[in-house]
Amino acid sequence: MIVWIVLGAVALLTVNDVAPPVRVLATVVLLGAAVLYPLICAAFPYRVCRACRGSMRQASPVFGGFRECRACSGTGERLRLGARLARRRRDRVR
Ligand SMILES: [Zn+2]
Repeated sequence: MIVWIVLGAVALLTVNDVAPPVRVLATVVLLGAAVLYPLICAAFPYRVCRACRGSMRQASPVFGGFRECRACSGTGERLRLGARLARRRRDRVR
């Protein structure tokens, strides 16, 4: 969801005929996201898996049974994008 807020703020800043208060608000939102998102990623690197909503399993489309969620490998959690990028960068440096 934070992605859509950030994209909306970026869109507002790229359009020229936007009222100055809206422009200031969009800038504040972007700066807030730039500061808060890394902190959220550091404090809570995992989020609930969207594919299975944390239930760790998915309904099979053919026979109606359940199987392990493929998106999260049955853990019910997924690494946030920011945490994934930070981890990849850290692995590359070492
Ligand atoms: Zn899952």
